[in-house]
Amino acid sequence: MANHKVVCWDCGAEVADPYVTVCPKCGGLLTVKMDLEPIKEMRPEDLQKTPLGVWRYAPFMPVDPAHKVSIQEGGTPLYKTDALSAEIGVKQAYVKFEGLNPTGSFKDRGMTVGVSHAKELGAKVVGCASTGNTSASLAAYASKAGIKCAVFLPSGKVAAGKLAQALFFGAKVLSIDGNFDDALALARKMSDERKLYLLNSINPYRPEGQKSVLFEIIDQLKFDVPDRVILPVGNAANIWAIYKACMELKEVGWIDKVPMLTGIQAEGAAPVAKAFRAKSKDFIPEEHPETVATAIRIGNPVSGRKALHAIYDTNGYAETVTDAEIIAAQQLLGRREGVCVEPASAASVAGLKKLRENGVIDRDERVVCICTGNGLKDPDTIIANSPAPIKCKNSVEDVERILSE
Ligand SMILES: *Cc1c(COP(=O)(O)O)cnc(C)c1O
Ligand SMILES: [Zn+2]
Repeated sequence: MANHKVVCWDCGAEVADPYVTVCPKCGGLLTVKMDLEPIKEMRPEDLQKTPLGVWRYAPFMPVDPAHKVSIQEGGTPLYKTDALSAEIGVKQAYVKFEGLNPTGSFKDRGMTVGVSHAKELGAKVVGCASTGNTSASLAAYASKAGIKCAVFLPSGKVAAGKLAQALFFGAKVLSIDGNFDDALALARKMSDERKLYLLNSINPYRPEGQKSVLFEIIDQLKFDVPDRVILPVGNAANIWAIYKACMELKEVGWIDKVPMLTGIQAEGAAPVAKAFRAKSKDFIPEEHPETVATAIRIGNPVSGRKALHAIYDTNGYAETVTDAEIIAAQQLLGRREGVCVEPASAASVAGLKKLRENGVIDRDERVVCICTGNGLKDPDTIIANSPAPIKCKNSVEDVERILSE
């Protein structure tokens, strides 16, 4: 599509080769530069005629919607979570529940755009390394597009639901001896040798689709921009995508303030939050990342520097939470709001609670927590942290005895 170019985020060079994943000149990170001029002639109402979802925002996307590979991604609910607001002591908290995407995570927003682009390029094989959700999503979109798919997973550390999805959609599922960072290194090697088209978030087309979560939030709040958006940070593409969406909406004149972008990491996998604490623009990779929140168990975040820029530039924040705080937040969402999220997603709510307690977040704020994935992805963690089913005789009396306990 002629409405964009791929450029180096570090040196600005234009990059024409669609198969490179870093700048050929300086090794920097790639990003898409959209031509926003045609959108400046439009109003948000022009887009609101189409259903809420990624493709409502087609003019902001670097692929031709006429050839899109779509299974109706996006259009997820924004819950006004009053019990959560009261519990945490904040004016209004909202939960954007990304677990209701087609494969159960926000990854579908990026994958619809990424796989559409792969199809435009005529790619024969697509692939990715993944802690689980990226592979589940890519496998689904590759099957819809009719493209062969290989996913590289760290052995033994992928939640059951996510593994089941990748297998179910017919991808070649490769179990790699090592962690996510090792699996990514191998996938990148395959991509460098042009043996597959890489759809990790280092691919600049993926964050373009992921911008839509912020567009939807603004739409759902009728352009009354929230004070803050909180989300979990793993490889850090999502916070970058949301930042990019804010900047583009500002550039076309549809909003005049941007939310403070606040990234939450698990204590055992927190290179971005530690860099923020040290007021640094760059991060130190973590050799052995560990957390119950497997979707953010990342030691060397691909878009870590972009994330830090997004946080500093929006007067945002980065914080860590413990695994115990993550599980407590997951249970709070379940027991008070009827929302079932996976552990990584609960990190946003755990972060809200912690930052409210330590005074970083003000009582008057309107805050949106992005809950990135569905709890059903990882039933083992839920069951391990829940009481066992209660043994009950086949009698009304026994049921009554149990209910009165
Ligand atoms: C991928 C993922 C994340 C992390 O997103 P990044 O863009 O890697 O920072 C968080 N939560 C869930 C459920 C995910 O699948
Ligand atoms: Zn460069």
